[in-house]
Amino acid sequence: MQLSRHKVVIIGAGIAGITAGLELLDRGFLPADIVILEAEDAVGGRAKSVISSDGFLVNPGALWHHDRRGPYYRWLKARYGRHGKVEYQLAPQVGSKRFKNIYDLDDLAGNSAIFAEGRRQYDLRSSGYSRLRRQHLIHQHAHPGKDTTLAALASLDGSHDAWNYSRFKACNWMGLDHEEVSAAEYFKENGADGGLVVMGGTGRIPEQMIREFKARGGAVEMQTRVTVIGQTSGDVQVATSKGKLFVADQAIVTVPVALLKAGAIQFFPKPSNEVQGCLDRFVISQFGKVVVPLSQEFFEQRGIERNHQVDVFEQGPLVYCHAFSAGEPTISIKGGGKFGGSYFAGELENMSSWGRQRFITRILEAVPEFRGFERFLCGEPYVSNWTQSAGGAWSALRLGEVRPKGPIRDGRVVFAGEAFTKTEYGASMMHGAWRSGKDAGTDVATEADDLSDYDVPMREENLVGPWLMAYRRSRAQARLLH
Ligand SMILES: Cc1cc2nc3c(=O)[nH]c(=O)nc-3n(C[C@H](O)[C@H](O)[C@H](O)COP(=O)(O)OP(=O)(O)OC[C@H]3O[C@@H](n4cnc5c(N)ncnc54)[C@H](O)[C@@H]3O)c2cc1C
Repeated sequence: MQLSRHKVVIIGAGIAGITAGLELLDRGFLPADIVILEAEDAVGGRAKSVISSDGFLVNPGALWHHDRRGPYYRWLKARYGRHGKVEYQLAPQVGSKRFKNIYDLDDLAGNSAIFAEGRRQYDLRSSGYSRLRRQHLIHQHAHPGKDTTLAALASLDGSHDAWNYSRFKACNWMGLDHEEVSAAEYFKENGADGGLVVMGGTGRIPEQMIREFKARGGAVEMQTRVTVIGQTSGDVQVATSKGKLFVADQAIVTVPVALLKAGAIQFFPKPSNEVQGCLDRFVISQFGKVVVPLSQEFFEQRGIERNHQVDVFEQGPLVYCHAFSAGEPTISIKGGGKFGGSYFAGELENMSSWGRQRFITRILEAVPEFRGFERFLCGEPYVSNWTQSAGGAWSALRLGEVRPKGPIRDGRVVFAGEAFTKTEYGASMMHGAWRSGKDAGTDVATEADDLSDYDVPMREENLVGPWLMAYRRSRAQARLLH
């Protein structure tokens, strides 16, 4: 059996996991004290960028870096900005004054809404938002401490704009139906608008972070999927599908909550009631993307500038298109939420290629600037698989549910990631994941000197049996696979 010993094992090399690793190094941990285990062959998790089979760049998950005036952006800028400690160019071909090669949402070339009947409105978002916000304040005043849904606020308002905005935000922001979305969660969110797009793909941020982690001597084990985590008095043991065992004083788990809910990792003993209660409360957002590759000429001929954004409202699916994202010659069509009883993202991802072609044509042909796009197609559209992949899109909450205030400690294991952060801190987004990873690193560093309180109050022989069985099972599976 291969065994390696560390002070901290971090599971997952998404934004949360890498941030936790960097925080530990910043707090004086030695590189040999820490190891990050990542299941995939690339870092970044839901914030990675990929090259499609036809060779175009796609951000299948996150695109916008919100919180541009907050601590996440300041942290990135201090570390990787032009005048920061580490000189870093996000995309050498383009320059920008403050933070090289990042584009601001305020610079969007277009931000308009097109309705099925062809009506065009430029300020739908701000009008719809103000109306819902006003209804929310009235509701809070009339029913202190009582939550409601976005749909309920929209019907109180009664306007077309409030209704459309509520559907749009519920579906595209929360990835749920607007009848389900908690208004409290939505209005507490601090990154609701604004954001930065990274030239060369979102994935450049986690890639740069891991580069720094490695340059400082930190170890990352790729293609290392954790299947079992056991705690005994004195340590935590982390077993992988390839039969490797990592023993540590503490562990930080940052895998998506959808995977934890599905039991992808077995815990011995079982997660505490606090952790399990939290997992039970989370629902997983339904969100999908189709990215259409076009020639550069398409954008040049029509004068479509970078980051052109258009919302298309139809009777059925309500989608939003993002064209020429950070200078990539693509149009992303995105959508979530429920229509006629089924989740739109699931339908989008499961369509036959013929159905998808018709769908793309219907949406893009509704937008005058995009008409005739077929002549400029440069390959097969890329389709996300967030509704099919066990990790899902991101965590969401239904009416009346509240998020944990941050990472949750369960003995020597700390649960972190986008879901384990206060709504106000940017839950379910990259800056929320960053915050959670940073807080988890702080917690682990603070507790490192005396962990005796966290020893599992259970006799070792009670634990080792089931733990070993699960561990042997995972090794047997690994042998079958390899
Ligand atoms: C379609 C989509 C659009 C989005 N848009 C935005 C946006 O515009 N702006 C924004 O801020 N956020 C957006 N998000 C959310 C954002 O991507 C996430 O909140 C954030 O990236 C989560 O980071 P994380 O570190 O918590 O989790 P992850 O990024 O999921 O990282 C977890 C890591 O753990 C690894 N892992 C899983 N299981 C195991 C295991 N058993 N063993 C070892 N490793 C494992 C995974 O491979 C992954 O690398 C979007 C997400 C999606 C899906």
